[in-house]
Amino acid sequence: AKEKGLNEYEVFKPSLEIQTLKEGIIEKELRNGMDLNEFILFYQPIINLYNRQIYGLEALLRWHYLKSVFVSPLEFIPIAEKCGLIVDLGKIVLKQSLESAKIFSNYFNRDFVISINISPRQFSDKEFISSIIQIVENEKIKNLKLQFEITEKVAIENINYAIEVINELKKYNITFALDDFGVDYSSLNYLRKLPIEAVKIDKSFVQEIENEETYFVVETIIKLCNKLGLKVVVEGVETENQYKILKELGCDYVQGYFISKPLNFEEIVKFIKENEFGK
Ligand code: C2E
Ligand code: CA
Ligand code: CA
Ligand code: CA
Repeated sequence: AKEKGLNEYEVFKPSLEIQTLKEGIIEKELRNGMDLNEFILFYQPIINLYNRQIYGLEALLRWHYLKSVFVSPLEFIPIAEKCGLIVDLGKIVLKQSLESAKIFSNYFNRDFVISINISPRQFSDKEFISSIIQIVENEKIKNLKLQFEITEKVAIENINYAIEVINELKKYNITFALDDFGVDYSSLNYLRKLPIEAVKIDKSFVQEIENEETYFVVETIIKLCNKLGLKVVVEGVETENQYKILKELGCDYVQGYFISKPLNFEEIVKFIKENEFGK
C-alpha cells in the first residue's frame, strides 16, 4: 500500500512552477489574513501525570481562512517560514498568547506555563530577542511562566548563538523547551550544554511505546533528563495504556488527545475552570 501511495504522489506532484505560483498566492492570502485577524490560537493542556494538574498550555496556531475554514499550521507555517512572514506571525502569536494568559491567570492560584512554538527563521532573526522583549517587557501577568519551544535542529545548528539567546531571555523569565526531541539529531551531549528547562519527546515515540525497543529508548531519555534536571513532556499521548506506561516510566508531564485535543479559547477556559476548581 505504501508503494502505491508513493506512485500516486509522483503522478500528482506539481511542477516547480506551479508550486512556486501556489506559494505566491498563499503568501498574499497570508498577509491578507494577518490584516483581517484570521489567525487564532488554540490551546492544548499539558498535564502533570501524578496529580493531573495542569502544568501548562501549548499555543497552537490556526488560520481561520475567510473566517470559514480552519487551515492546519502544517499547511501554512512552512510557507510563512519560507517567505519570512513567520516573523510577523510570530509576534501575533506572542501577543495573542499574552492576552489569553491574562484571562487564564484569573483561574490559576499557582504557576502555569504558556508554551509557544518558535520557528527556525524567527529564532535566528537578528531582531528576535529585542522584538520579544518589546512585547513582554511591560506585561506582568500573575503566575505566568512563558516557555518557547524550539527544535533540536535549530538549537544545535548554532549552539553558541542558541545558548546566548536562551540565557538572555532567561532574564525576562522565559524558559526554553526542546521540541520534537528524538527525531533529528538527538546528540545527548547537547542536552548538557543547552540551558533549557524541558524536553518534549516526539509523538512518534509514544505511538510505538508498546514496542520493547522504543520503551527502552524512552526510558533512557527520561532517566537521562531527570538526572540532568530537565523536565520531560511526552506529546501525542492518545490512549490510556500509553498513559499508564509513561507513568510507570517516571515521566513528569504528558500532552495529547487522551487528555484533550487543542481547544479554542472558550473551551480551554472551561477546561481550566473544571480542572482547577472541580466540576
Ligand atoms: P508541534 O509543535 O509538534 O505540535 C504538536 C502537534 O501535535 C499539534 O499539531 C497538535 O495538535 C498535535 N497533537 C496533539 N496531541 C496529539 C495526539 O495525541 N496525537 C496526534 N497524532 N497529534 C497530536 P498542530 O496543531 O497541527 O501543529 C502542527 C505543527 O505546527 C506544530 O507541531 C508546530 O511545529 C507548528 N505550529 C503550530 N503553531 C505554531 C506557531 O504558533 N508557530 C510556529 N512557528 N509553529 C507552529
Ligand atoms: Ca510544539
Ligand atoms: Ca512537538
Ligand atoms: Ca512536530
